[in-house]
Amino acid sequence: MGPRDGHRAELTAAGTRADLLVAGGGPAGWSAARACARRGLDVVLVDPRPDRAWRQTYGTWCHELPRGTGPDALPDEVVAAHDVGWAIATRTHRLEDEYAVLDTGALQRALYDDGVRVLRGKVVAAGPEGAVLADGTEVPAGLVADATGAVQALTAHRRTGRRAEQTAVGVVVDEGTAARVTGGRLVFMDWRPLHGLPGWPTFLYAVPLGGGRVLLEETSLARRPGLPLPELADRLRRRLRAAGLHDAEVPLDDPARVEHVRFPVDTPDHRSPAGVVALGAAAPFVHPATGFSVARSLRAATRLADALATRPDDHAPVDAAGRVARARDAVGGTRARVVHGMRRRGLDVLLRMPPAEVPEFFEGFFSLPARPRRAYLGSCGTSGSDRSDDDVAESVRAMMSVFARLTPRLRGHLIAGTLCGPGEAQRP
Ligand SMILES: Cc1cc2nc3c(=O)[nH]c(=O)nc-3n(C[C@H](O)[C@H](O)[C@H](O)COP(=O)(O)OP(=O)(O)OC[C@H]3O[C@@H](n4cnc5c(N)ncnc54)[C@H](O)[C@@H]3O)c2cc1C
Repeated sequence: MGPRDGHRAELTAAGTRADLLVAGGGPAGWSAARACARRGLDVVLVDPRPDRAWRQTYGTWCHELPRGTGPDALPDEVVAAHDVGWAIATRTHRLEDEYAVLDTGALQRALYDDGVRVLRGKVVAAGPEGAVLADGTEVPAGLVADATGAVQALTAHRRTGRRAEQTAVGVVVDEGTAARVTGGRLVFMDWRPLHGLPGWPTFLYAVPLGGGRVLLEETSLARRPGLPLPELADRLRRRLRAAGLHDAEVPLDDPARVEHVRFPVDTPDHRSPAGVVALGAAAPFVHPATGFSVARSLRAATRLADALATRPDDHAPVDAAGRVARARDAVGGTRARVVHGMRRRGLDVLLRMPPAEVPEFFEGFFSLPARPRRAYLGSCGTSGSDRSDDDVAESVRAMMSVFARLTPRLRGHLIAGTLCGPGEAQRP
């Protein structure tokens, strides 16, 4: 039974004490809930709209997706399309890695698990004894996972001020039409300003969706605040016109064929309350420089479930504090926070860079060999490990490799951005 069938087993009352309560039914929440339920844990998932169909187009590098045949393996149909990725900065680069675009509906169905008890509600507080919902219901649980996404509903210290956001506007066209823009390639980033407008740099992201459809998306990687969506739509239309497409071939007024993207990428290091472990966009899983988090959430779910289902070597009973410590360590301990901090600095550099020089920066980046490039993107697979997100040495090496490839002027921007911290949007 899938989440869109409308027959989810919903709890009408709090029920018995669960091993794990997951707040939030997005990819991070469901992957953790499913992985834990499949290892025999009693799991409750709480979401205000548990039947909500996910709509985002999720993409990731193929090697980042969980592989194998274990309990968390995903069926093949979760990948809607995949192809080798291309990037264009000041030159064209064929990347060694295949990029996958997920079938979001298939992913949602695959992550659903009948063994998870689903409760419609909004978690407003949590601690070592469980969670409290907005209607006052208390749900006892041995551990609470905050997977409430960018709202970070359970984070103790909220960030104030303007967020750095990724924004994008995409349109779905048939592959023949798209090929006139992309040459039939999967384009991870095309930084050429073919829209003809000055100002904040944006790039084209062009990926197959399966079924002969292609998403063409004008994207602002990060800006504080996010570049307005109407501006992105205008750029997309101009870019596609410049490639020879007529407006009638670009259905930007058809909501069913348009994707709007807006989410923060400067997720701060979270301060979860006692008894709570944060996951997904509610934790600092969102890569500050790419916005990716879904594949990382899928991998973290396996580590969390293994940590909770396995007894420590000394067979000593695990108290509540010990359980939280193990859970936090499994999904990202101190080293992951260091790597995240370094990537936040990378975001600051990007936000401070003069717009005209951003393509040159990415030229240096895409000239990197596969290994440091993967390490910077946060991809696993460089050493067969799934833990590149907490590999401090690999991340330092990747950043040094980028630095070595830059012009002296760009190096100056990089140093200034690193020393000066968060930048505001640079205006032309
Ligand atoms: C259009 C778009 C495209 C994106 N594309 C990609 C991509 O290609 N690759 C990638 O890796 N990332 C992408 N992202 C970024 C990010 O990975 C996604 O936002 C992803 O959905 C985050 O998953 P999540 O489960 O952490 O949070 P969400 O998907 O945001 O889920 C959070 C859930 O928590 C629920 N919730 C909120 N408050 C409460 C509460 N108080 N109590 C209980 N439940 C609550 C919400 O209802 C929601 O269901 C994209 C984002 C957008 C918006």
